[in-house]
Amino acid sequence: MDTLRLVRSTHPGVGDVDVRMMQRAIQLARSAAAAGEVPIAAVIYRGDEVIAEAANNRECEADPTGHAEIVAIRAAGRKLGEWRLEGCSMAVTLEPCPMCAGALVNARLSKLVYGATDPKAGACETLYSIPGDARLNHRCQMHGGVLAPQCIELLRAFFRERRAEQRRAKEATRAADAAKAATPARRSA
Ligand SMILES: [Zn+2]
Repeated sequence: MDTLRLVRSTHPGVGDVDVRMMQRAIQLARSAAAAGEVPIAAVIYRGDEVIAEAANNRECEADPTGHAEIVAIRAAGRKLGEWRLEGCSMAVTLEPCPMCAGALVNARLSKLVYGATDPKAGACETLYSIPGDARLNHRCQMHGGVLAPQCIELLRAFFRERRAEQRRAKEATRAADAAKAATPARRSA
């Protein structure tokens, strides 16, 4: 329970349920990595009830919008039979991008808890602040950096492994080309 105490002291407004849901999202992201997806996952919950959860499925579904948040929001709407997710919170391992942050506003989500910040696409606090923009018709409470070290490490490990795989594939191609060049071409009969 040390983790819970630590998060509570550094993130006022984040409760035990939020932290548990983030831990759940981290587990889910880990299994997505094993399936070849970038390890990002989201859990939508109300109180301590899980409404929907999803990991990125962009690769498996060949879907450019297959971000964990979008997949989870759609599933939550279907489950509740209601497009308004008022009273629902989301825990997601990476700061949502502009598309997902827009979807959170459209879904009227009450609270967003995210792990790692995203300097390349973060649209909640880093590059934009879409869910907190007073010009929009809905704002949601935001808490970033929750269990960030675990979320960052998941992504780092995934990309490290992917780079190593690409290196191995390139070396194998080079070795095959070298072998081909060394073999004298057979004369046709
Ligand atoms: Zn997104």
